[in-house]
Amino acid sequence: MTYDFDLFVIGAGSGGIATARRAAEYGARVGIAEFDRLGGTCVTRGCVPKKLMVYAARFPSIFEESQGYGWSPVQSSLNWEDMINRVNNEVTRLNGIYQRMLDNSKVQVYQGRAKFVDNHTVEIGDTKVTADKILIAVGGTPIRPDIPGIEHALISDDLFTMSPQPQRVVLLGGGYIGSEFACILNGLGAEVIQVIRHDKILRGFDEDLRTEIQEGMIRHGIKIINNAEILEITKTDSGVNIKLKTDKEENILADAISLAALGRKPNTDNIGLENTGVKVDETGMILVDSYSRTAEDNIYAAGDCTNKLQLTPVAINEGRAFADTVFGGKSRVMSYENIPTAVFTNPEAATVGLTEAEAIEKYGSDRIQVYRSRFRPMYYTLAGKEEKTLMKLIVDQESDRVLGAHMVGDYAAEIIQGVAIAVKMGAKKADFDATVGIHPSSAEEFVTMR
Ligand code: NDP
Repeated sequence: MTYDFDLFVIGAGSGGIATARRAAEYGARVGIAEFDRLGGTCVTRGCVPKKLMVYAARFPSIFEESQGYGWSPVQSSLNWEDMINRVNNEVTRLNGIYQRMLDNSKVQVYQGRAKFVDNHTVEIGDTKVTADKILIAVGGTPIRPDIPGIEHALISDDLFTMSPQPQRVVLLGGGYIGSEFACILNGLGAEVIQVIRHDKILRGFDEDLRTEIQEGMIRHGIKIINNAEILEITKTDSGVNIKLKTDKEENILADAISLAALGRKPNTDNIGLENTGVKVDETGMILVDSYSRTAEDNIYAAGDCTNKLQLTPVAINEGRAFADTVFGGKSRVMSYENIPTAVFTNPEAATVGLTEAEAIEKYGSDRIQVYRSRFRPMYYTLAGKEEKTLMKLIVDQESDRVLGAHMVGDYAAEIIQGVAIAVKMGAKKADFDATVGIHPSSAEEFVTMR
């Protein structure tokens, strides 16, 4: 049977686009469907605009710190609308780049929602296309849990277009998005209250990291209400009222916005999966094997709509591994071990490998040696600030292998990216010790910890 395409990709986010282009490089005839802007969550309403806002939020402290170096006080104020416009213009520029990249790769783009008709047929509006292989890369969307009045809460997508600048914000959720936006909005001048249901933010990260980040955020003026259950959100004339249960019941008022960052769910509801044999779990995540293959032989899935990790580089890597295997004759699977990740909070944090708790659970406490260093980076001495950097290595004493590296502090993401190569290669603590440090830097601490 001949098909219109060798590969049809549903969803032109980071994973979908990378896969389409890689398959096209191998000579495959590729089509891709997207109902929104090209680039998906990461480019349009996630990592990219978020990171630009992280940069924007840094300036007030930089202005302050400059005085420690002899600069006169800086008089500057934020034009919120201008910042939002500039961020969105950059997103539009990137959307255009994606279009050109797909055109150059001769990938045919279909604008619209794609839906399975059967295992080899997809319809986009009135158009039907057939394909030998189909990749589902539809991404995810924020969850709105069953809390009375949750419809009054915004989601992170809204922040990139919101105007005027919020003055008092209540953020619900202590994960990546809740914590990052708490810091962005705080840095940009809002009064921020973050409500979390456990004792600390960023569950799943190393305990020392969680404590260091949370304490840093509080030091920067963010109020964190922990062990709180959100009972109800109501709209009032003066904003949004959030009713909470901690050890008592309390009400907090946000200035028109409360932001829910309570996890994400896959966009698998209306894509016609019922017309295929593709299996999903109870949350709608598509079940795939190590080759990203679903329960149907010719249908694959990658990225946030699968039961794996919700990170852009993971989606890209999964998709490319699929394209290499199926269209490039180079069979390979994505490795999920030692995936580094960063949280762009203030202080920033990044991590690779096992946490101390995970290492102890896996190897037993007798085998695990923890190296820790906490110091004030040189930059803050003249600036006169008590900002701290924390670095931590988790080592298996038996093999001397570094099992995990964790950092909170300036440039954590940039530093851990390099350390992650060593950890992924199976470097030993002796290899770290044998590496000459770059002096003076914070990063050198990773090779001098004793
Ligand atoms: P996360 O899964 O990171 O965090 C969700 C948060 O919401 C947790 O603090 C959780 O609490 C809390 N929560 C969930 N349900 C409820 C509820 N019913 N009531 C109260 N609290 C609740 O989700 P995010 O939305 O922050 O981010 C989604 C994903 O996007 C992340 O997992 C990450 O993979 C990705 N991402 C990555 C970024 C990066 O790489 N820098 C940046 C942004 C997003 P608890 O954990 O205590 O149970």
